[in-house]
Amino acid sequence: MKAVRGTRDLLPPETALWSRIEATAREVFARYNFGEIRTPIFEETALFARGVGEETDIVSKEMYTWEDRARAQSEKTQSLTLRPENTAGVVRAYIEHKLGESGQLQKLFYIGPQFRRERPQKGRYRQFFQIGAEVIGPTHAGSESPLRDAEVLEMLASLLDALGIEGWTLKLNSVGSAADRPAYLARLREALAPVVGQMCADCQRRAETNPLRVLDCKVPEDQPIIESLPRIADSLDAASREHFAAVCAALDAAGVVYALDHRLVRGLDYYTRTTFEFTHGGLGAQNALLGGGRYDGLSEAIGGPKAPGIGFAIGQDRLVLTLQAQQQTAAERADACIAPVGEAQNAAALRLARELRRSGLRIELGDGSFRVRKSMELADKLARQIVLLGEDELASDLLTVKDFSTGVQTKIPRADLAAHLLAARSATI
Ligand code: AMP
Repeated sequence: MKAVRGTRDLLPPETALWSRIEATAREVFARYNFGEIRTPIFEETALFARGVGEETDIVSKEMYTWEDRARAQSEKTQSLTLRPENTAGVVRAYIEHKLGESGQLQKLFYIGPQFRRERPQKGRYRQFFQIGAEVIGPTHAGSESPLRDAEVLEMLASLLDALGIEGWTLKLNSVGSAADRPAYLARLREALAPVVGQMCADCQRRAETNPLRVLDCKVPEDQPIIESLPRIADSLDAASREHFAAVCAALDAAGVVYALDHRLVRGLDYYTRTTFEFTHGGLGAQNALLGGGRYDGLSEAIGGPKAPGIGFAIGQDRLVLTLQAQQQTAAERADACIAPVGEAQNAAALRLARELRRSGLRIELGDGSFRVRKSMELADKLARQIVLLGEDELASDLLTVKDFSTGVQTKIPRADLAAHLLAARSATI
């Protein structure tokens, strides 16, 4: 017998990487004062239907749902579902345990498996693992403040950096609130009506059931039509516009880099205002490392009090894939590239390379044809760090070293260089 399609066993040594990721996530969440929540792996089907949305792909096609038999006369059969995501479960727990009555913001994180009947491929499984967090609470506790959005995004940037994920992109959008979304949907439906016949079958269905998701379509032939559709940003009311501008301003102030993506809508209905995704080029078709956003109406949609919130879910499987690919490239790259900046330094560069190689380091050696931009790009592919050797460096014995993974440039005494490069190697592997 074999593990069911779309599920897999995780074995050593790979499980060590899974544990390290979880430990780092716990450490970072603790720094932001989050506490852990563990909710059941299955819930009543109605929770996801009402929370995530009947018309979403997740609820309409992907859930593992069964009728749970009654064991006694007094019991009723119940429709139950393996959780396809965890925000609905956390908000259900928030309501059930009256967490809002404390008057404080609840900052909760979780780590665990989720289940969706998707077509398995690289980075997409039927049992997959998410590391997520939610910030939720009554409005008077500040749960609607744009500072919460910015703090969550800044925490994610810090977490990905702490994990050593290189080259991620934060994509950001606002999908409007319950107050201004209907106006946008009306404009979108109107614009779609004359053109939807020329679009793919999925878009034709979505135009009926969930028009926002048309913006998500990846079919190349549909792209010119989608680009011509009205943009959400132009339909936001003053309150949503101000909220989004404040999120962006706080991120700018904190130095978190993002790219606005006016077509970023997410596959779950509960999102309002800020929505985001962190993507990674190395992942191929399934390039989202994580996704999230604000859900100001979710608690009320499942029968609770008003409790605005914001949260995210990171695909742990995709973190693992990204880190494994990075380790592979790191292992293939030299420890450093020695770059003499002119012919006059060629001989000294050869001497330095010999010295470092004798310390067991893997060294690439350039020559005096060094051109800052081009040579840097080339060296980035070949080596983890570059050591610049110019007149000043040779005179002072202080070498300029740039680490490509962090972008940090420092001056290092020649005598310490071998130890510095060896330490960098053990930090990445
Ligand atoms: P979502 O809950 O759909 O917003 O997804 C959040 C994150 O979970 C995504 O960005 C992925 O990294 C991950 N994810 C979602 N579905 C799957 C899946 N079937 N297999 C692996 N990871 C997934």
